[in-house]
Amino acid sequence: MKSVGARELKNRLSEYLREVQSGEAILVTDRGDVVANRWKKAVRLVAKIHRRIFNQRNDFEHKLSREIVKKYGIIVVEDLKVKSLCRGMLAKSVHDAGWAAFFFKLSYKAESAGRQFLVVVAHGTSQRCPCGAPNPKRLNDREHVCVECGLVTTRDHASALEILRLGLSLLALAQPEVRVIVA
Ligand SMILES: [Zn+2]
Repeated sequence: MKSVGARELKNRLSEYLREVQSGEAILVTDRGDVVANRWKKAVRLVAKIHRRIFNQRNDFEHKLSREIVKKYGIIVVEDLKVKSLCRGMLAKSVHDAGWAAFFFKLSYKAESAGRQFLVVVAHGTSQRCPCGAPNPKRLNDREHVCVECGLVTTRDHASALEILRLGLSLLALAQPEVRVIVA
């Protein structure tokens, strides 16, 4: 069977739904089971779209985690459980399901490649500069500007640097000879 893109599947689905809703499908043959057939077909299409989206995301997660493990010897991630407490119910279930799947792939690939894989409590990482100075931000502040050390970057990059700093601090505790330098 020829592979059909997700957009094409969505177009077909909305076409079926339009026909069912407008009664067009009934008018065609004047038989109730036509609507039922149309509906079953629509349900199958929805399942197909979901499968396709899952496969695409799954492939992307494998590819990205492989690249990260290949490139870096030390990998630091934020604690999933703590993060989930900060979120609303819907955001939590949608976002964390994706993050957990990626987290799992990254952790087992890192482990089998002999990488350092560290998990840190990321609470407050968006509210501090990696230099240690407080840097309060509101949710919609996307920029990070530190008057103490002069670091100017995006909010997410600053948080990532802070997560890395926390991870390297953990490593330094375990191995006192490791020096922590994060610019
Ligand atoms: Zn700073």
